[in-house]
Amino acid sequence: MNNNNQQDLTNNKSGNKKNILNKKHGIIAIVGMPNAGKSSLCNAMLQQKISIVSPKVQTTRNSIKAIITLDNCQIIGIDTPGIFIPRQDKILERIIVKTAWQALREADHIAYVIDSEIGVNLENQRILNDLKKENLPITIIINKIDKIRKSKILTIIADLANLGFLDIIPVSALTNEGIDLLTQFLKEKCLRQDWPYPEEEITDASMRFIASEITREKLFLNLNQELPYSISVKTDSFEILDNHQLKIKQTILVLKESQKSIVLGKNGQMIKKIGEQARHDIGQIANTKVHLFLFVKVEENWMNKTENFDKFELNKLPQNKN
Ligand code: GDP
Ligand code: MG
Repeated sequence: MNNNNQQDLTNNKSGNKKNILNKKHGIIAIVGMPNAGKSSLCNAMLQQKISIVSPKVQTTRNSIKAIITLDNCQIIGIDTPGIFIPRQDKILERIIVKTAWQALREADHIAYVIDSEIGVNLENQRILNDLKKENLPITIIINKIDKIRKSKILTIIADLANLGFLDIIPVSALTNEGIDLLTQFLKEKCLRQDWPYPEEEITDASMRFIASEITREKLFLNLNQELPYSISVKTDSFEILDNHQLKIKQTILVLKESQKSIVLGKNGQMIKKIGEQARHDIGQIANTKVHLFLFVKVEENWMNKTENFDKFELNKLPQNKN
């Protein structure tokens, strides 16, 4: 179908012009509880038959944008931190949740992600109720269908229909099942004219941020959430060498000496493993060899110093359901 469209739009010399005139875009906030699979979905959509990929960070207060350009259409997915109930005394938790809700102001469509293993539980119902008040169209994505039986999907769809939701797409960000359909569906929702982003835009700044995020992800994967909120990763330097390879230095910030020992691991084995995994993933995204240098630093109470929020790019934060 894509190919046909493409041909229709560009089958002669004036075709290009027509293509430009037909450009459209939509801004879709991808929201849901922590761990529902929002970031995985963004990645899955970006990996599929995308001509141009440009994850871009606007400012530290905004969420990450995944720009998916499909034929004449730019789908801008805003990958938000998870929505949960913040504890009043935790500045950081309140900022995370606020960031997620702020994404809605920019958006013209909401994609709400539900972990199919969790289904339409009370918390999802409550968030969905609040989202309805935003007066934006809502598409529900039932994710992780690789983990459940087909009959459970039908139950979730029925529960959602009872709540008045009709645009429901079951997918697996892991196996890519349904992702194609989802992208096409979201494309149909794009109404705005023109493209807000140039075709190619992978800036040094965004790669810096992505590099920090990848290392943070590896920390979480390897440390089993032992240090939920207490880790931040900052990319100190990001150098493109003459041979096009990357030299990246990052600081992992922890709160206490004891946490530093956990991150380093016995004989430095943990930090070595994390470094290897991060180097691999950053290299894949940047499409070049990466030399990654990780340092661990103890800075007590950095989480409650607001001036650190910008410094450490905290818009994409560790997520927690508490
Ligand atoms: P987010 O917090 O909503 O952004 O969730 P993530 O994208 O970080 O995913 C949370 C966890 O769920 C990770 O361990 C993912 O690997 C896993 N996950 C995400 N999507 C799927 C899926 O479709 N199937 C399975 N089995 N796991 C998934
Ligand atoms: Mg995420």
